[in-house]
Amino acid sequence: MSKANIVVVGSSNMDIFCYTDHLPEPGETLIGDRYWMTLGGKGANQAVGARRLGAEVTLVGRVGDDLFGQRMLDNFSSHGMALDHIQVDREAGSGVALILVDKQAENSLVVVPGANMRIAPADVEAAARVLRAADVLLMQLEIPLETIQRAVDIAHEGDTLCVLNPAPARPLPDVILEKVHLLTPNQSEARVLTGIPADTLEDAEAAGQALLDKGVQTVIITLGAQGALIVRPGETTHVEGVSVDAVDTTGAGDAFTAGLAVALAEGKTLEQASRLANLAGALSATKPGAMPSLPTRDEVEAFAGAP
Ligand code: ADP
Repeated sequence: MSKANIVVVGSSNMDIFCYTDHLPEPGETLIGDRYWMTLGGKGANQAVGARRLGAEVTLVGRVGDDLFGQRMLDNFSSHGMALDHIQVDREAGSGVALILVDKQAENSLVVVPGANMRIAPADVEAAARVLRAADVLLMQLEIPLETIQRAVDIAHEGDTLCVLNPAPARPLPDVILEKVHLLTPNQSEARVLTGIPADTLEDAEAAGQALLDKGVQTVIITLGAQGALIVRPGETTHVEGVSVDAVDTTGAGDAFTAGLAVALAEGKTLEQASRLANLAGALSATKPGAMPSLPTRDEVEAFAGAP
């Protein structure tokens, strides 16, 4: 089995959680109980997820010229990821998400995308050689669409499989959908993309079909505990989820997408890849947080072999 080679073009954020009794009213100053800070952003999560599952990973991205940016770079290098295509942006700060959580676990968020929205077509052009040589190009929607479009075009010059995880959901132009080999929405993202509520297997299949009609080659809709539905021309396959005691499903989608990308880069079939992705997603749901919950290959293999 050759080592998977994955390029992620995507976002990095510092997620700062503040825990309080209640959420602040306008003008109110609250004394919080504690805070917790963790590296996040869907690009960073999926890049680290793929790395933990054994792939060589290059992240194309931007961080600010600030303390958080330095922390992010240290984290990526401690995971053994290539840093050559991460720019330190002097014009914008690092991406930050401030998440206030009250006693009822209700939350309010402020997301400042910062340098992530400055990841430019020129950045992917500078990484064109690695991109064309990669097995898989993996992207999400926390960066400009024009950059996604340029990355997909470059990937098509090579033999690189283009995987787009359309999160957070927003409508996508056909010029992008036509060139994506594999789209991986969850049920609510599938609804935003198609207008079809993908709540049941039948509706999810219809939403997948609508995306195929727009030119996507294959759609895999994630179904939470129910696993995933592979929709491709003339054939739909339900790959059942794996039963776990879920404590926090944050990051499950990132773990799933990372698992899928790694397995496909290793030459596995869509069914085999979806099974591995389900194991990764389920394992991440057993631990709190997003990045800290992303499993390693050893953990996935031990879990797969468990009776
Ligand atoms: P998102 O996290 O983006 O909302 P899903 O909820 O569909 O997406 O979860 C992504 C994947 O994670 C699922 O396809 C499944 O493999 C796994 N997963 C999520 N929740 C559970 C759960 N409660 N039990 C087992 N697997 C889960």
